[in-house]
Amino acid sequence: MALFSDLKPRHCGARWARVISSLLAGVSLSAMAAGPVADAVYQHGRIYAVDQTGTVAQALAISAGRISYVGTDEGAKALIGKTTTVIDLVGRTVMPGLVDGHMHPVAAGRDLLKCNLNYASLTVMQFQARLQGCLDERRKSEGPDSWLEVVNWFRYGMGAQAAGVDRRVLDSLKTQRPIIVHDSFGHSSLVNSRALALAKVTAQTKDPVGGRIDRDASGEPTGILEDAAQESMSALLPKPTAAEHVAGARAALNALREQGVTTFLDAVGTDEDIEAFAAIERENALTARAHFAPLIAPAEAPNVEAAGQAVAKVVATAKKYDEGAIRAAPSISVHQAKLFMDGVITAPADTGALLEPYLVNRGTAQSPKFEPAARREPDVYFPVPILTAILIDLGRNNIDPHVHTDGDWAVRAGLDAVKGMRAALPGRDVRPAFAHCELVDPADYPRYAQLSVIPVLSFQWEKPASDTVDGARDSLGPRRWPLIEPAGWLAANGARIAYGSDWPVDPLDEWFALQVGVTRKARPDAPPKYSGRLGKDPGLSRAAVIQAITLNAAYELHEERYIGSLEVGKLADLIVLDTDPATVSPERISATKVLRTVVGGRVVYDAGELKK
Ligand SMILES: [Zn+2]
Repeated sequence: MALFSDLKPRHCGARWARVISSLLAGVSLSAMAAGPVADAVYQHGRIYAVDQTGTVAQALAISAGRISYVGTDEGAKALIGKTTTVIDLVGRTVMPGLVDGHMHPVAAGRDLLKCNLNYASLTVMQFQARLQGCLDERRKSEGPDSWLEVVNWFRYGMGAQAAGVDRRVLDSLKTQRPIIVHDSFGHSSLVNSRALALAKVTAQTKDPVGGRIDRDASGEPTGILEDAAQESMSALLPKPTAAEHVAGARAALNALREQGVTTFLDAVGTDEDIEAFAAIERENALTARAHFAPLIAPAEAPNVEAAGQAVAKVVATAKKYDEGAIRAAPSISVHQAKLFMDGVITAPADTGALLEPYLVNRGTAQSPKFEPAARREPDVYFPVPILTAILIDLGRNNIDPHVHTDGDWAVRAGLDAVKGMRAALPGRDVRPAFAHCELVDPADYPRYAQLSVIPVLSFQWEKPASDTVDGARDSLGPRRWPLIEPAGWLAANGARIAYGSDWPVDPLDEWFALQVGVTRKARPDAPPKYSGRLGKDPGLSRAAVIQAITLNAAYELHEERYIGSLEVGKLADLIVLDTDPATVSPERISATKVLRTVVGGRVVYDAGELKK
């Protein structure tokens, strides 16, 4: 443990002070050696610093991967020498690189390389055409018996046609190959007859616990598999190789730099994930700062006594992979741990832990009659005393907990555990992050600020859509439904809100997410039943959503002293945008285009539209 602390200056006040002074000494030495000339100067723009005082400047300079100047065009003149690259922004906006505080990049990147339906709303004919296209283009490289795995099928987007989609839709394609189509919510899959035969799923097969094999009138499987019933197929699918993990990570980095993401947290950072990004780092091709939260599963800590061992495993992973304080070139950081307290509050899963039961509407939409659901909702995955013991041990080891809490009981139990941790470790800089928080009891809103717990929210969920309106309105009932997605209320109660996309649960669209965080509305072309604002929450200001995806997410990752704002001395992680999301009309934030992404002073993405 002592050795590990040595690797983590960012968590230790005195040691941190020494690091800062040596860094500053390094900066001034090189400045003296090279004179005041900067490597790059961005001028004639709108530099949105996202600092404490809300600075908006005209020019910014970069020297040795760090920001060396933020100020007026006039002041920047003195920094321009023969070797300086000067970029005329022509009034465009520069802001800090985006920090995405919760995603699953390797799985997302691998999805990009599979037959990908891209969450599109398709008719049955379009659906078949897309799949046949994948089969045709892959025929050479893949054998006649290899699986076709299809991802990101937006099943709800088929509307009334979805009910008729079964194995026959796949059986009519020109192939003998087994096919599995995963829906984008992860709750159901569609397979063809060949897949059912290989998995030996027949009319006689019983439904597994926590899952359902959909059947026709004669009892034959239709090919639709719900929740745990999908596991009968996962055993047959080929396991991804190390090379495929690397390819996934590479595809993810490509998507991230195009959207302006310069730092991310892999919210279930497996060893395979870390190895994949480490391989890319060795090629000097890592274009975002990669943070990982290894998982502690409930089975690893069945009692308080086992907590230490579960934490020791994460500490060992951190010791193995964490590369210490971040520097100009992107590196690997492991100083978070992931824990799940519940599932999701959305039907048909209803696995979020709630203070009161899920409801069923036994009446009609016009005259509803709500009754408690027959099925018992789950309890929290970690009882409070066990979670408390884990949090204390993580805190002692300078690991920040990243806790999945979706329902109001999961949130309350998590807050109770943090309270116990704070009492045991007074004054210690531990930063618990609670991911999702879709339903929070109003009595708990002030506790985030009181206990310094960071809500990590996926703003794109804060709109009327199939997962909210169809998935939660009736099951939460009239008292709780208006309280869904409480971002604005949490902010009003002093919570420091960070953003995390949860990609690939949704497509990666950071600018759309920021727009929804402000408007709480679906896109204008959404079906009429999804019109208007979601719930009663007031939403967030433009400044607040921007801060959530920059400075606050950097704070969540314990890196705000290095990144998250454009301030002299910080690493030069920045993006150039075609519009200013802080002043454009909220409905147009989603149209923001990233023209350039810079990480540690290095241009990692350029759309080719900037004047030199
Ligand atoms: Zn997640």
